[in-house]
Amino acid sequence: MSGPLKLVLLGRQGAGKGTQAVRLAERYGALHISTGDMLRAAVAEGTEMGRKAGEIMDRGDLVPDEVMIGIVDERLAKPDAVEHGFLLDGFPRTVAQAQALDALLAPARLDAVVNIDVPLDEVRDRMRSRGRADDTDEAIERRLALYEEQTSPLIDHYEAEGLLVVVDGLGSMDEVFDRLVVAIDAARERS
Ligand code: ADP
Repeated sequence: MSGPLKLVLLGRQGAGKGTQAVRLAERYGALHISTGDMLRAAVAEGTEMGRKAGEIMDRGDLVPDEVMIGIVDERLAKPDAVEHGFLLDGFPRTVAQAQALDALLAPARLDAVVNIDVPLDEVRDRMRSRGRADDTDEAIERRLALYEEQTSPLIDHYEAEGLLVVVDGLGSMDEVFDRLVVAIDAARERS
């Protein structure tokens, strides 16, 4: 059994990733590091980086890899992340980010990369019914398409590294949480 948690959570928008990330971080005493939250905080603070990132996020595009890698590198190097471990939510989102994360952690490795799997039709229904202002049909389709194009290749990347764990994301939040804990505990036993 390894020390502090080192985990990446993957999942389409609407898969329940954010909610499960908060609960898992609490369960494992680890930091929940959400790059979406960090970017929104930078936007709210009105920093130069926040202003640029805000424009990109409004378009539904991805913030450049080198910016994101810099932000995550800085955050993971802080003593609290080193001491308590982390659960990354929203990063990596591209293969370049995944490669940078591997390099940043070396010689250590992630415990696991957990993909919360929810079929496309189901996440579409969920996003339409939650009705956030930015969840127009067009925005939903754009973000889902970007995920398939940029983020789903990560599944192959981590599968090749033997780190991928797939958890069925259908069912209640509690059911999915219980499945996640079982999967993560098993992966950590192996790592
Ligand atoms: P979502 O609502 O898509 O689950 P997040 O809260 O994780 O999104 O992120 C919101 C936005 O922040 C993304 O649409 C993207 O513009 C930007 N973002 C967050 N993380 C990253 C990342 N790792 N790489 C590039 N852009 C990112």
